[in-house]
Amino acid sequence: MHCPYCRATDTRVLDSRVAEDGGSIRRRRTCSTCERRFTTVELMQLTVVKRSGATEPFVREKAVSGVRKACKGRPVSEDQLACLGQEVEDALRNAGAAEIPAHEVGLAILGPLRRLDEVAYLRFASVYRAFSSAADFEAEIAMLRETGDVASAVEEVAPRPSRDPEPAPQPTG
Ligand SMILES: [Zn+2]
Repeated sequence: MHCPYCRATDTRVLDSRVAEDGGSIRRRRTCSTCERRFTTVELMQLTVVKRSGATEPFVREKAVSGVRKACKGRPVSEDQLACLGQEVEDALRNAGAAEIPAHEVGLAILGPLRRLDEVAYLRFASVYRAFSSAADFEAEIAMLRETGDVASAVEEVAPRPSRDPEPAPQPTG
């Protein structure tokens, strides 16, 4: 690890601390050349195990790219996608396993995405859960309707006349 100020490669560790959740280590370092100080964070490498058994490092941007496709044309910003990626990575890290089956990455995306945008959630879920028929899709809509927050998704699929003066109460948070 080179010094971020002068690029010298000789740095010394002054102090190491394990984070409260035990998932990372912070090291306070000093550069032997310019003597400035900086902090590094050491994280466990998350590994994704594909269905084929092949493994690859978890890359947040790769997880986000699949979500970005589902959000095409939806009012979802890059900042929100970045937050979702962070939330997904945090959830996977908090689960505490170094190796994660690929489908669990998808599963970890579903919750945060549903809170972000119902339509994008349905699109993503239709690919992730491989909906094989319209019936599957309708079952998902019915499930969302039961929990009372399907309004925006249904409007997207079948726009209703906008004469209703009282919008349905939206769940907050
Ligand atoms: Zn330096």
